[in-house]
Amino acid sequence: MEEIMNMEDTIAAIATPMGEGGIGVIRISGPEAKDILEKVFECAGDVDEIISRRMTYGHIIDHENNQIVDECMAVYMKGPKTYTAEDTAEISCHGSMVSLKNTLGLVLRSGARLADHGEFTKRAFLNGRIDLSQAEAVIDVVRAKTDRSFDVAISQLQGGLSLRVSEIRTKLLDLLVDITVNIDYPDEDIEELTYETMGDQVLLIGDMIEKLRSTAHAGKMLREGLRVVITGRPNVGKSSLMNELLRENRAIVTDIPGTTRDTIEESVNIRNIPVRLTDTAGIHETDDVIEQMGIERSKDAFNKADVIILMLDGSQALTEEDLQLVEETKSYIGDRKCIALLNKSDLGFSVGENEVRDLLPKATVLRGAVKESLGIDAVEDEIETFVYGTEGSRPNRVLVNNVRHIRLLEQAAQDIEQAEELIRRREPMELIEVDVRSAYDALGEIVGETVSDEILDEVFSRFCLGK
Ligand code: GDP
Repeated sequence: MEEIMNMEDTIAAIATPMGEGGIGVIRISGPEAKDILEKVFECAGDVDEIISRRMTYGHIIDHENNQIVDECMAVYMKGPKTYTAEDTAEISCHGSMVSLKNTLGLVLRSGARLADHGEFTKRAFLNGRIDLSQAEAVIDVVRAKTDRSFDVAISQLQGGLSLRVSEIRTKLLDLLVDITVNIDYPDEDIEELTYETMGDQVLLIGDMIEKLRSTAHAGKMLREGLRVVITGRPNVGKSSLMNELLRENRAIVTDIPGTTRDTIEESVNIRNIPVRLTDTAGIHETDDVIEQMGIERSKDAFNKADVIILMLDGSQALTEEDLQLVEETKSYIGDRKCIALLNKSDLGFSVGENEVRDLLPKATVLRGAVKESLGIDAVEDEIETFVYGTEGSRPNRVLVNNVRHIRLLEQAAQDIEQAEELIRRREPMELIEVDVRSAYDALGEIVGETVSDEILDEVFSRFCLGK
C-alpha cells in the first residue's frame, strides 16, 4: 500500500556522475513530470506545446529570483513507454556541479521529491515493465568492468535469466496442478499421477535447476574478479610473468592502491575475465617484525586466491627453498586451481614435469620461458578453463552471478531433492506438494513474483542515485 502511495509523487535526481562533464542530466519521473518541466524550462514558442519525445532547446529559469540557471536541452516523454513506465522528463544541462545542483534544487522546489537509491528502476519494476532479476541487471550493466560481464548483464536485462527461471517454474506449476488434482479429486475420471511419473518430472526439474546453478561459478568470477597469486623463490621470473600478463592484456583497469613492497597487486583483464594478480614472495618462518607483517599479507593473499601459480626455474635442479614453497602451496591448495610453471625453458630442462607432478599431484604443470613470451597463452588458457569449464560445457550468455539468485536456486534445488526423497519413499502426495511449492516460490523470488518489501529495499539500496 505504501509503495502505491509513494508512486503517486514525482521524483527527481541527477542521473550523471558527480564532477565535470560535457553534459549532465537531471531526470524527473511521475505524474507531475510535465508540469514541473514547464515550471522551470523556457523555450522559443509555447512551453505548453512541448511535444512528447522531442528534444527542445531552451533555458532553465529561476522565476523567483528572475535568473537564468543554465542553457539546456529538455525532453518530456509521456508514459508508459518510458524507463519507469511513468511520465518522464530529462533536462540535459552543462555538466557542471553548480548547474546540476541549482537545476535540481529548482526542480525540487517546483514539486518533485529527491529520488531514493534505485528508485527509478524500482518504479520500472513496481509498474511491471521489468521483473526483479532484470532490475538487478541494471546495476550490473552500470558496473560492468569487462565486455564479458557487460554481456552477461545485458542478457539478464533482456530477460535471459527470467526466461530460464520461468521455464522451470512452468514445469513446477504443471506438476503442482497434477498433484493438487490427484489429491482433491482422487475418484474423478482423471489420469492417475503415479510416483514414477512424478519421479521423472522432479528429476528433470532438478536437472534444469542444476544446470542454471552450475553457471554460478563463472558468474561469481566475472562479478568479483578472479584472484591469482604468483609465488616462487626470488629470481624464478615472477615479475617477468606479471609484466607479460599485463603487457598482453593492455586494458589494465586500475593499479590497486596499498601496494606494498612484499606483495604487489595489479588488475588486468585476461580473456575478458577481471583478474587481480598478486606477486608474493613465499611464506617462511621469521622473527623479524617487519617481515612478519609482509608474511601476514602473503598468507592473506593465499587465503583469498582462486588460482595459485607456483613458478619454478625449470633449468636448474629444485632447491630447498623451491621444495618448501611446494609444501606451502600444497597446504593452501584446497579447491584452488594450481598451476606449476617451469620457467626458463630457453636455458634447458633440468626439472622434469613428472617430478613436479609427483610433488604436487593436483597441479597443472606447464613449461615456459616468460622472458621469451612463451607459455603465457597456456597460463591464460588454464585460467579461462578454470572460470568457464572446458569448451564443451561452456555456458551461453545466461550466467547466474547474483548472490541472492544463487541462494534461491540452492533453496529450490534442496526442495526438489527433498521431494525426490519423498517420492522414493512413496510418501503421501500432500507432503510432496509442500516441497514442490516451496521450490516454485523460491524461483518466484528471483523474478520478484513472491518477494517481500524488505528484500526489495535491500535490492534497490545497492543502486546509485538517479538510476
Ligand atoms: P622474480 O624475482 O621471481 O620476480 O624474477 P624476475 O622476473 O625479476 O626475473 C629474474 C631474472 O630472470 C631476470 O633477469 C629475468 O630477465 C630472468 N628471466 C625471467 N624469465 C626468464 C626466462 O624465461 N628465461 C630466461 N633466460 N631468463 C628469465
